[in-house]
Amino acid sequence: MLSMPPTPSTPQAASLPAHAAYADALARVHDRIEQARSDAGLALSGVSAPGEATSSVRLLLATKTQDAAAVRAAVQADRAAGRGASVLVGENRVQELTEKAPALADLGLTTHLIGPLQSNKVNHALRALAQHGRGCIETVDSLALAEKIGSRVLASAPAHASPAGGQGGNHVEPSAPPASAVLDVYVQVNVSGEESKAGVSPDAAVDLALAVAQVSGLRLSGFMTIGARSTDEGLVRAGFTRLREIRDEVVGSGAHGTQGARELSMGMSQDLEWAVAEGATIVRVGSAVFGAR
Ligand SMILES: *Cc1c(COP(=O)(O)O)cnc(C)c1O
Repeated sequence: MLSMPPTPSTPQAASLPAHAAYADALARVHDRIEQARSDAGLALSGVSAPGEATSSVRLLLATKTQDAAAVRAAVQADRAAGRGASVLVGENRVQELTEKAPALADLGLTTHLIGPLQSNKVNHALRALAQHGRGCIETVDSLALAEKIGSRVLASAPAHASPAGGQGGNHVEPSAPPASAVLDVYVQVNVSGEESKAGVSPDAAVDLALAVAQVSGLRLSGFMTIGARSTDEGLVRAGFTRLREIRDEVVGSGAHGTQGARELSMGMSQDLEWAVAEGATIVRVGSAVFGAR
């Protein structure tokens, strides 16, 4: 064994053990996902619709309270394992998203906002998501918020960037916005009805999604929920079932802008198996990778 001089814990020195710990934790999470898929018969049956790639579940790292070095180490550990689909990153707070963006910009991450978005933070959120690479806002829960995001996406399209906070709504658009001036959004649904949780009520979710699908600057790409805070499998799964049914109703409507709304972001460290069994396409995992907060 090499004898190592005692070094202060610089980020560089910390990165090797961190990488190994993350690699182990990530392998366990991916195993849990695969086990859940196979228990549910999803791995074998290929339930994908015609023309779709074989369905799979993507992992989103919920990185709240983790600093940029930790996020980088975990992302690199997952990429190094070469499992295919690249890991996603999710941030809850616009401020954290903004703080970490410069340090992570080179990774070309796809970053999702998974916490509530106040309308006065929309510009900040879009700017930080753009710095990260590709972005998505999973927490759209009102038409007003969707319209605000959509108008800001269009206004910040590269061809005619206007000063932040500008009031001018009268300038003539030089041309149609480029196709890239579209942001992926999900509608967040509060399937459990718990007071503490954000999201539109299940009864209003289909109408909201149909309306969001019409908002220019946005592409409705799916649905998100936080499962009931309970260890009752039936209760938690019923919520996930509800989200899937809402998705199926929206996509099945055939309405304009709904065909791509297939993602189901549901399941966390405690309940990801149940979410996968109910058709999750993205599970959001924090503590199972990074440890207890
Ligand atoms: C923190 C968080 C997660 C991950 O939760 P864990 O229990 O740590 O896996 C997922 N989704 C959202 C919205 C979160 O805030």
